[in-house]
Amino acid sequence: MNTFNEQIPGASGTGTEATPRGFWGNLGLIRPTAWVIALVMFFGMQALFWLVIWPHTHPDELEKLSDVGKICLPMLAGAFLAVYVLLIGFVYVDAKRRGMRYVMWTWLTVFVPYSIGIILYFVLRDPMPTPCPKCNRLSAQSFTFCPSCGAELMRTCRVCHKKLGAGWVNCAYCGTSLTAQAQSSAPTASA
Ligand SMILES: [Zn+2]
Ligand SMILES: [Zn+2]
Repeated sequence: MNTFNEQIPGASGTGTEATPRGFWGNLGLIRPTAWVIALVMFFGMQALFWLVIWPHTHPDELEKLSDVGKICLPMLAGAFLAVYVLLIGFVYVDAKRRGMRYVMWTWLTVFVPYSIGIILYFVLRDPMPTPCPKCNRLSAQSFTFCPSCGAELMRTCRVCHKKLGAGWVNCAYCGTSLTAQAQSSAPTASA
């Protein structure tokens, strides 16, 4: 059983996941739960301002804010919070489809302040899994062999089994000449 595939939604069986492209495609990935939480946060923020903050603000201070400001400020705060929640929701699905530790990353984005967790995620996230050329199941780009069918995904040394660089004539790890290996070990996938 390919545990890597199990971590990717929609890829538990055979074949590759249809990867949504673009902003709207990615937006559609976010689970309904995250949308509901984002909406609750938005309207919760309106309630907080109109029921708690504005009634307790000194009338002189309120006077300085125009009516437009009184409406816009809660809207902006609510929108900011909603977008933040949706970003966390996106990290959850995106990390999952990349075969990353999605639960850990989701909690990091929730608890690390000043959006640092979210920024870290987008800097450090793994590349999208690619389909195996032989069995078409998804595998991480860093994998040398397909976890499902064992097909060679990268050119490896027949003696020490380490990954070979492009254009190597001799293995850099064990010194074996690669010209003799070349005929029998044609790479099944190009990098
Ligand atoms: Zn395979
Ligand atoms: Zn070697």
